[in-house]
Amino acid sequence: MTALVVEALTVAFGRFTALDAVSLAVDPGEVRAVIGPNGAGKTTLLDVISGITKPVSGRVMLGDRIDLTKRSEAEIAKAGVRRKFQKPSVFPALTVRENLEIGCGPALPARERPARIASVLGEIGLGPRAAVPAGRLAHGEKQWLEIGMVLAAEPALLLLDEPVAGLSDAETAQTAALIRSLRRPDRAILVIEHDMGFVEAIADRVTVLHEGRTLYEGSMAGARHDARVIEVFLGR
Ligand code: ADP
Repeated sequence: MTALVVEALTVAFGRFTALDAVSLAVDPGEVRAVIGPNGAGKTTLLDVISGITKPVSGRVMLGDRIDLTKRSEAEIAKAGVRRKFQKPSVFPALTVRENLEIGCGPALPARERPARIASVLGEIGLGPRAAVPAGRLAHGEKQWLEIGMVLAAEPALLLLDEPVAGLSDAETAQTAALIRSLRRPDRAILVIEHDMGFVEAIADRVTVLHEGRTLYEGSMAGARHDARVIEVFLGR
């Protein structure tokens, strides 16, 4: 059983090929980082998985049965794929708890909400800040709240766009610890990130994209010694 399988995915914008037969497989419970220089196709990959962009060919399977490329954005979210975009989008006037209420979604019965919210507050470490308006949180805390908002929907696959962009070193280290603690057998996490120290701290495996192709897949330690990866990153 695999959490996510991307098979020979090709995406074109007009005559430009942004992804060229990209394949990858993420195991249940895995934290996978997708890295690569600007323009490599990382955002496009997440856009296809979340249904914003449709491929020319190839497919994306969630688990064994659900072909995401045949579904709308709303259907993909319902199937258990949730994405945290790079820009914080918390509701500043609402408290941390109220933001998490929204993250639970309208389908969750009212009697199940308090337990779900308590569990997420514990996971993101914001229990003591539950009654604080989100607008008063530090930048890092806002990012963690946003991760909590997507966790509240109990996703099978969590997509994170540059979760430590703009964070301090201390906040980055805390976010790495948070993401490591989010590993669960029924939850896979796919992260796009530029900060290689952070990637090394969180990822079980990395996929290196370059000009729309997969250059490397394996451990971050292995990537550091891969001649093609070194050439692409140093050649920038
Ligand atoms: P990354 O996230 O790795 O920086 P992207 O997936 O954003 O890369 O972009 C890959 C390539 O596809 C880039 O050259 C980018 O300019 C191009 N691209 C992305 N989206 C579009 C679009 N909507 N129309 C045309 N070109 C696009």
